[in-house]
Amino acid sequence: MALSEFELIRSYFSHTGPCRDDVVLGVGDDCALLLPPSSMQLAVSIDTLVEGVHFFPGTDPESLGHKVLAVNLSDLAAMGARPAWVTLALTLPHSDASWLAGFSRGFSALARRYGVQLIGGDTTSGPLNISVQVHGFVEPGKVLRRDAAQPGDLIYVTGNLGDAGLALLHVQGGYPMDAGAEEVMLSLERPEPRVDIGVAVGGIAAAAIDISDGLLSDLGHICRASGVSATLQLTQIPLSIAVRAYIEEGGDWAMPLASGDDYELCITVPQERRETFESLANKFDVELTQVGTIDEGSGVRVVAGSGEAVTVTRQGFEHFYD
Ligand code: ADP
Ligand code: MG
Repeated sequence: MALSEFELIRSYFSHTGPCRDDVVLGVGDDCALLLPPSSMQLAVSIDTLVEGVHFFPGTDPESLGHKVLAVNLSDLAAMGARPAWVTLALTLPHSDASWLAGFSRGFSALARRYGVQLIGGDTTSGPLNISVQVHGFVEPGKVLRRDAAQPGDLIYVTGNLGDAGLALLHVQGGYPMDAGAEEVMLSLERPEPRVDIGVAVGGIAAAAIDISDGLLSDLGHICRASGVSATLQLTQIPLSIAVRAYIEEGGDWAMPLASGDDYELCITVPQERRETFESLANKFDVELTQVGTIDEGSGVRVVAGSGEAVTVTRQGFEHFYD
């Protein structure tokens, strides 16, 4: 059934997420009216998912509704900001009621869980394209910036790395998976933004980034912004049983370090705050693993068990000389 633009907005997007006290006027007028708290900084981020680029044509709309909000909340988490408001720009090839109902279900469920209210957006027709902008608050002293890592900091990651990458290998036709397939697929389709951890460790941790393009690349951003280098211990990288089995078969150590879409956090922590950090971050039901350290210099080095530097490739890892 085709809906008009206005019916569509009223049916699926006029009451999404909680009704927050700091929203004077939400969906329905020319602008939303908001009351940002005066003592906090406003953190803003936008991300777009394009059909055929970021997700396969025919992807389940409920998963898509979840994922487009999750990847944005992940950016707030990596800043130590608590999510508050969200806007949604939807470009749809046609107004399909069952697609919209599914999308709105996935989006709303995650919005409610994190107390985020949908306050406005735009709806147009064209190739399927979904843009979400999130707004969150963070106390000025509790921001987790990329440029705040210092030599001596410990590097932590949340969760496991490579599950989303393995799921992609699976759906792209190559990799057969039986045991653990469901959990691995969930991490690609329904990533869980690490908002609670990001907010909890603000003011204690130094720098943070969310892992959207692979740990090597994203930790590289922290290193460049902070003017430091990083050393990763290959054997410490947290891996699910399925990813471990995949590596044992083909030796592809590069996959969990270089494939995208994990949306875990990479956090650096001054050594003297290690215990406080761990006790704050471990309150949530998410694994936390120390994977390396920040040093002087530049670039990201990976070391194997013996402590020797290696380059990680699709075939395994090789020694290199620098
Ligand atoms: P205008 O023409 O003034 O830009 P629109 O017709 O685009 O107004 O939107 C009407 C109202 O519906 C606005 O409050 C807008 O924020 C909201 N809106 C439009 N599309 C969406 C959407 N996909 N999600 C949430 N709110 C939307
Ligand atoms: Mg408009």
